[in-house]
Amino acid sequence: MNPKNVPKYIFITGGVVSSLGKGVACSSLGILLKKRGLKVSLQKFDPYLNVDPGTMNPFQHGEVFVLDDGAETDLDLGHYERFLDESLTRDSNVTTGQVYGEVITRERRGDYLGATVQVIPHITDEIKRRIKKLAEKNGDVDVVITEIGGTVGDIEGLPFLESIRQMGLEYGHKNVLYIHLTLVPFIESAGEVKTKPTQHSVKELRGIGIQPDILLCRTPRPLSPEIKNKIGLFCNVPSQSVIQAIDVKSIYQIPLLFHQEGLDELVCQHLDLSCSGLNIKEWEDMMEKIEHPKHEVKIGICGKYTNLKDSYKSIIEAFVHAGVENEARVELEWINSENLVKDKALEYLKELDGILIPGGFGERGIEGKIEAVRFVRENKIPFFGICLGMQCAVIEFARNICGKKGANSTEFDKNTRYPVISLLIEQEKVVYKGATMRLGAYPCILGKESFSFRAYREKEISERHRHRFEFNNNFKESLTKAGLRIAGASPDEKLVEIIEIPNHPWFVGVQFHPELKSRPLRAHPLFREFVKASLNYKTSKKLKTTEEKEPLVKR
Ligand code: GLN
Repeated sequence: MNPKNVPKYIFITGGVVSSLGKGVACSSLGILLKKRGLKVSLQKFDPYLNVDPGTMNPFQHGEVFVLDDGAETDLDLGHYERFLDESLTRDSNVTTGQVYGEVITRERRGDYLGATVQVIPHITDEIKRRIKKLAEKNGDVDVVITEIGGTVGDIEGLPFLESIRQMGLEYGHKNVLYIHLTLVPFIESAGEVKTKPTQHSVKELRGIGIQPDILLCRTPRPLSPEIKNKIGLFCNVPSQSVIQAIDVKSIYQIPLLFHQEGLDELVCQHLDLSCSGLNIKEWEDMMEKIEHPKHEVKIGICGKYTNLKDSYKSIIEAFVHAGVENEARVELEWINSENLVKDKALEYLKELDGILIPGGFGERGIEGKIEAVRFVRENKIPFFGICLGMQCAVIEFARNICGKKGANSTEFDKNTRYPVISLLIEQEKVVYKGATMRLGAYPCILGKESFSFRAYREKEISERHRHRFEFNNNFKESLTKAGLRIAGASPDEKLVEIIEIPNHPWFVGVQFHPELKSRPLRAHPLFREFVKASLNYKTSKKLKTTEEKEPLVKR
């Protein structure tokens, strides 16, 4: 806890190119400060005009990360929650769309009567209000870390940079810290790393009036003291404040490397934070398990956006966490569901130890997913369906077990005779697309006799949602009679949340997104059990093939 109880502000900007891992850098600093006994809040500014990323497609934006309160946010918020092991609220993701929306509403209300409403001071004041609100709302917060999305030099980022410049002026050097993340590339033909892009990026930042206090230099090669001195000299930063951010295999290594580089100490000194030493043993143990797994398992992810791994960020991370708990390396195999209906592609699924069908929207690739469900159901391969994946499992069951030919979701076939997945009345009335899906945390009651209860070991759970379509209760009776198990439902039993197929090693479909709540030190129970089931399946498969090769009783 810092003594005067004044919140300190850390701003992280990015330079040279995008995708340097600013979100992970913020999260890593966040966990280091938290593990030194400080209360930390994280926030991201996104300079685009959308109010939130919910209306963008995954190719534009990657995954949309949904919070408990239903906010649709940037995928960096996923890193924040995972590293800090805390659930955030909608105040942690601010976009230009929200800021302008608020200022324009106020102008129409007459709040600024008489004034010309301008970027400075009205927009910048609103941005600053949202930074301060995060500190005030969480009461005793010691440090607010704010990431400015985009790259220095982007026109749309200017109001945010101007706002954080003003914050420095308002609160003074001891209370505000600027960190700039840049790239120090290695040029093969010259055989050395180059500092010029960093120099230019810092020059740009200083032109706006911001002198960075610390530079995080993303680089493929270690930075020698000479290089650090050079960067420091040209960028007007002490060389010990030039921190190497070297490329790593696992993002969970980064806090440990930053600590070795002295980042947390530097920040605490600069901001005059009195705090304890670093206690990060658990994290180190986790890293050990990631680096030295005892087992291996191969899981297929059968989706539509398989070329764009950012669309499945939280699922990928959830498998890392589940791997840690099972002491296994989970290898992910990406399968484009559009190819599955062709040829003998389905047979390939036998090579895998488990299949996951993730969430998604739109008709493309659906029939391949439904075929994949049939295949894994019949061949008793562990199956995990998430949101759309669960809906596909229901459709497959209706078609192939209940004989309801042409059963479908009304998302894909409005006139199907058997709309086993359909819209609720509330959703049918929706006209505006933004923020109108079923979003955020909802409670769910588990049935005791289920894979799910065995995983969670509790009766009531809470999980996050993002979808419009639901299991159609008109078909509940016929499907359950044929053997489908409703393993979880809303407390009033109106919404089916989990379906399962008994007499199968592990077959679970969930209407929610469990991946959003998986944390490195607390793997999600369903991911953990799915990986465990896949490991067991792999062992049994091996036993079978060796028995076939060397029969126990000679024939
Ligand atoms: N498209 C489906 C729906 O809207 C599933 C959404 C999802 O998988 N997130 O209900």
